[in-house]
Amino acid sequence: MARKAEPYRIKMVEPIRMISRAERMQKIKEAGYNPFLLKSEDVYIDLLTDSGTGAMSDRQWSALMLGDEAYAGSRSFFKVKDAVKDIFNFNFVIPTHQGRGAEQVLFPHLMRRQKQYVIGNMHFDTTIAHIELNGMIPADLVIDDAFDTGKEHPFKGNVDLDKMEHFIREKGAENIAFINITITCNSAGGQPVSMENMRGVRAIADKYGLKINIDSARFAENAYFIKKRESGYAGKSIKEIVREMYALADFFTMSAKKDAIVNMGGLIGIKEDEELYQAAAASCVPMEGFITYGGLSGRDMEALAVGLQEGLDVDYLESRIGQVEYLGQELRRCGIPIQWPVGGHAVFVDAGKFLPHIPAGQFPAQALCIELYIESGVRAVEVGSLLLGRDPRTGEQKKAGVEFMRLTIPRRVYTDRHMDYVVDALAEIWRRRDQVRGLEFTYEPKVLRHFLCRLKPAGDQAQK
Ligand SMILES: *Cc1c(COP(=O)(O)O)cnc(C)c1O
Repeated sequence: MARKAEPYRIKMVEPIRMISRAERMQKIKEAGYNPFLLKSEDVYIDLLTDSGTGAMSDRQWSALMLGDEAYAGSRSFFKVKDAVKDIFNFNFVIPTHQGRGAEQVLFPHLMRRQKQYVIGNMHFDTTIAHIELNGMIPADLVIDDAFDTGKEHPFKGNVDLDKMEHFIREKGAENIAFINITITCNSAGGQPVSMENMRGVRAIADKYGLKINIDSARFAENAYFIKKRESGYAGKSIKEIVREMYALADFFTMSAKKDAIVNMGGLIGIKEDEELYQAAAASCVPMEGFITYGGLSGRDMEALAVGLQEGLDVDYLESRIGQVEYLGQELRRCGIPIQWPVGGHAVFVDAGKFLPHIPAGQFPAQALCIELYIESGVRAVEVGSLLLGRDPRTGEQKKAGVEFMRLTIPRRVYTDRHMDYVVDALAEIWRRRDQVRGLEFTYEPKVLRHFLCRLKPAGDQAQK
């Protein structure tokens, strides 16, 4: 038997409904052609994000009842601490309300002087924002193959080690704040980083006296790819692989809304640097809350402690990553250009290739998201030049390596039938792709503009 089914049964359902095409056209116009501003009730299948959108298990729901809502010294906090010690072998943990809370608390303490660089494969957008808000400068040093969407490579999230060493030599090690490895590499298409590559980064870090942070949202999915694709790991458990990855790092920031399958939560992990822990703990209190809850209730921490372990289950990971792969395979069969191989949490459609007549400055991937919503009620998200924004120093629009439209798959939420529907919708747009138009701003916020900006079809008269 080659085909396997999901390793769970569905005990509870949430009805979804599709509004008419005319309504969808009206709703997206009212939303300023920005899918972030749509109401979720006007969306049929929501592939905006895999963040906080997963379905918790019966074990997680029942753990909620055990939540110890104590301000200080909560029993639920110690369950998270024990899980972090067990899985990552890190001594210190600080809960935060979500991943960006972890970045906000930790990053100021990683700066040793002004205008230092934070180097890594490819930083995530909120990570870039926190680097820049602290006066540091992000630099992406992912391998060039990450941008060659048609090219076969098992670990497209890898750091280009030569580029990294060159960069450190050119800028001087004293001008590097820290190294930040994002696993899997969200911005490159949910692409994994190999253990060998992480070992290479560790060697560079040791040579130049630098510390390594792992941006850990999808730590378990990355470990699954290592098990499947890297020689020597087929026989190891996901937990063993995770431990080996984290033995190479000094600290981590984590959005627990992804692989830990909770609807809200984040973590800072610190392996053994007690001084750094104390500094971060002192910042946590005014920013996120006392160190034994950090913006979370006891019940949130209970679900998190369970979710961290559940996320490591190899049958679940096979089904989860298999579903994303299935969507990618089906789109590819229709001739639709996607990042290949398919990443862990999403299929990234190469909108630059899909809509070659739309220039980067008119945001082809955003245009494709809009068309997909109108066609089918499916909500996807742009990960391209619109998300990248402007250079904070020069104000110039940065140009993305690839204009991606991300179809992000929530964990344990949709079936393969939902995936088939998405394929049919995109295949229809593919047939009339030359009619899709670009977009331009009517309102552009300065920081993280993609969340709140408003647009209109390029060339249209201004709309109210
Ligand atoms: C989601 C995410 C973050 C930010 O986490 P939030 O929980 O959304 O604040 C940081 N880095 C990566 C790689 C992410 O995917």
